[in-house]
Amino acid sequence: MTVAAQQQPAEPIVVRNPATGEILGQVPDQDPEQVRAAVKRARAAQPAWAALSVSERARRVRALQARIVSHTDEIADLLSRECGKTRQEALMMEVVGTCDLAGYFCKRAPAILAPERIPLHLMLHRRSDLHFLPRGVIGIISPWNFPFAIPMGETIMALLAGNAVVLKPSEVTPLIALLSKQQYDASGLPPDLFQVVTGRGGAGAALIDAGIDMCIFTGSTATGRKVAAACGERLIPCTLELGGKAPALVCADADVERTANALIWGAFANAGQVCVSVERAYVHQAVYDELLEKLVERTRKLRQGAPTGADMPDCGSMTWERQIEIVEQRVKSALAAGARALLGGRRRPGAGLFYEPTVLVDCKQDMEVMRKEIFGPVLPIMKVRDEEEGIRLANDSELGLMAYVFTGDRKKGVRLAERLEAGTVMVNDVLSTYAAPETPWGGIKQSGIGRTHSAQGLRDLCITRHINVDRIRPPRRDPFWYPYSDKAYQRMLKLTKFLFGGGRR
Ligand code: NDP
Repeated sequence: MTVAAQQQPAEPIVVRNPATGEILGQVPDQDPEQVRAAVKRARAAQPAWAALSVSERARRVRALQARIVSHTDEIADLLSRECGKTRQEALMMEVVGTCDLAGYFCKRAPAILAPERIPLHLMLHRRSDLHFLPRGVIGIISPWNFPFAIPMGETIMALLAGNAVVLKPSEVTPLIALLSKQQYDASGLPPDLFQVVTGRGGAGAALIDAGIDMCIFTGSTATGRKVAAACGERLIPCTLELGGKAPALVCADADVERTANALIWGAFANAGQVCVSVERAYVHQAVYDELLEKLVERTRKLRQGAPTGADMPDCGSMTWERQIEIVEQRVKSALAAGARALLGGRRRPGAGLFYEPTVLVDCKQDMEVMRKEIFGPVLPIMKVRDEEEGIRLANDSELGLMAYVFTGDRKKGVRLAERLEAGTVMVNDVLSTYAAPETPWGGIKQSGIGRTHSAQGLRDLCITRHINVDRIRPPRRDPFWYPYSDKAYQRMLKLTKFLFGGGRR
């Protein structure tokens, strides 16, 4: 390749409405130099921001929250057009949660980030505190399924912690990130403190290489592995929010009515493109037939259609071609291996990336639909003999982001939840803890490392500095400093016996 060819700017990224195919716009695929320049500008803007008190940062971030609230409809509309989700899902699953998260952390961040005393048990003449200080520039790399709620929630938390942010959104949904940046700029916050770089995967890799101090990555487990390796190479921390394969364990004593409604919403909301979608259900034989009947009856009533239309459908389109192809392939392979589609099981004929809500039965644990993330509107179901079998199958997975239990006995629900291998387990509910910003969000096993949201998530965006200071005027020399002597040794010996040999009691 000649030097001239190497310098050719990369093809711009064309963004389409997945429900109609209409072109919505295009964005540049920024090169590593541009990404590095954005990080440099962010770094220059960060110290002045870090110098503000947390309360003052919160006061200013509230202006961003106000700006989002006053432009809710515009944001929901673009989300709907860029992702194919219904406007109701855009509003409820993305914008409302972000407004709430902003309000919650603007109020609580000063307390969460206040220095925390460590009561010293032995060195009573000294005092230890943990101080939560900004890291610097946080690189956020985000996926296309919640392109507003995920990066904006993380951005707001990172800013409150005193950091600057450079965001690389998915190439599939960059326009909503640019609209977020517009709203941010209009709120009067320092422009360079939050920047968006657009591009393909390479721009995400370039961001990690551009001198950031921490990476928050949300995306597939495969890319997460690469991100972790790149961060490890540079010895910078990363939080990885990766794929899920959430099981739902339905017990014999479950409220079948609520379970059916929950499973349908949990499997089909956002066209199943939710990292904690119900991806597989293990249903106790005692309620299997009744539940299936209700699932089929309710799913049949779901209306799928133009997500931006005035007569709000229940189900919109999927977001991009590659994902609908994955769903088609997973379902095809299940059907070939003996599963049956009671409903759906195919792409809707005609324009747009619509996949019909699909209920699959006669599934087996070794089928791809039960083992690999589907990330589409498909609910594969297996009948189980008892809860023990359900737990065993639910835990038979490399992924562990979320799990669900349905039972009429709350205490039993908690007991079962303790045995399910996941970052979060919900009893008699689905999906909704993402909208509770005070709770930790993240997975175990191959579903990720670290937590976002919650006090822990906010503190993780900080360096924890331990400061140890004298409480009383110190002597000129501590007894165990130089010079060493046998007398000092004998004193230490007695003290050791007194402290740890029972004398203290
Ligand atoms: P990907 O892993 O394909 O992409 C995620 C982001 O990483 C995108 O911005 C992508 O850019 C970027 N990227 C791609 N290659 C690299 C690289 N080498 N270095 C750095 N960044 C890179 O995931 P998807 O966008 O397809 O998202 C779907 C996945 O996200 C699902 O597995 C889902 O479960 C998971 N997810 C997890 C959540 C959680 O909280 N645990 C929440 C939401 C989704 P580009 O798109 O331009 O290629």
